[in-house]
Amino acid sequence: MASPAPREQMVAAARRLDALGLNRGTSGNIGLRSGDRFLVTPSGVPVDELSPDGMVEMDFSGAVIGTGRPSSEWRIHRDILDARPDIQAVVHTHSRYATSLACLHRGIPPFHYMIAVAGGDSIRCAPYALFGSQQLSDLALQALQDRKACLLGNHGQLALGSDLADALAVAVEVESLCAQYWTALQVGEPALLTTSQMCDVLDQFKGYGRRGQT
Ligand code: 13P
Ligand code: ZN
Repeated sequence: MASPAPREQMVAAARRLDALGLNRGTSGNIGLRSGDRFLVTPSGVPVDELSPDGMVEMDFSGAVIGTGRPSSEWRIHRDILDARPDIQAVVHTHSRYATSLACLHRGIPPFHYMIAVAGGDSIRCAPYALFGSQQLSDLALQALQDRKACLLGNHGQLALGSDLADALAVAVEVESLCAQYWTALQVGEPALLTTSQMCDVLDQFKGYGRRGQT
């Protein structure tokens, strides 16, 4: 069966984030590469009112193709998709635990092996900058170096994927890791995995699950 068209996929992903409690109201946004342009969710539109036609198409100069007011974070989506050819989709949420840790400016250390889903042995937290600003996008891109996720200080999280389903899965896992880290911190400082242990985890993931199947 053919997969749904990109605009439909974006609406479905936004609804899923809402249903999972990762976003609510007008918080968060989604970007998806579309040829030599990209699509982004519209600014300030509640999830129930999102429609495929409402997705805003932009080029990499920042011009809107057609109509619509793009997410205030279009620069984040543009800059990530421009800098990272391996990435097709970007999901931004204000999910509870990721945002709580981001408010403490606390990145996630290797307290659990699943931290590897973000591409390395940490999930960094970018310093605070105003939502919608170029500064926030610049800081996010730095925090995302060699990673598929980061926290945004006093704001939320970003999750990247090789497609929209992958970005969604990373966002869900990051929120889950943040909840686990937060919970462990209530009792004490979690034991951290070493660099060598995390190298083994990253290697192990290369042959994990459906990867490599024909
Ligand atoms: P938009 O509705 O403009 O996408 O803003 C939501 C948000 O999360 C800003 O960081
Ligand atoms: Zn936001």
